[in-house]
Amino acid sequence: MARKKEKKVRLCCPYCEQEIMEADFPYCQACQVTIFYCPKCRKPLPRENMVCPHCGAEIKG
Ligand SMILES: [Zn+2]
Ligand SMILES: [Zn+2]
Repeated sequence: MARKKEKKVRLCCPYCEQEIMEADFPYCQACQVTIFYCPKCRKPLPRENMVCPHCGAEIKG
């Protein structure tokens, strides 16, 4: 069986590090939180974070 090369990045919950399956609407069922992405480095962030802990970008909105 030929496997497709997937470029999907595996996402993990920033809280519990469980893998997030839904990339379009990332939501951790364990923590019951919506995961938000840093617009700069594209890493998942806790929703309430105002500053990205990875790259220091300011999160707006
Ligand atoms: Zn979680
Ligand atoms: Zn960032």
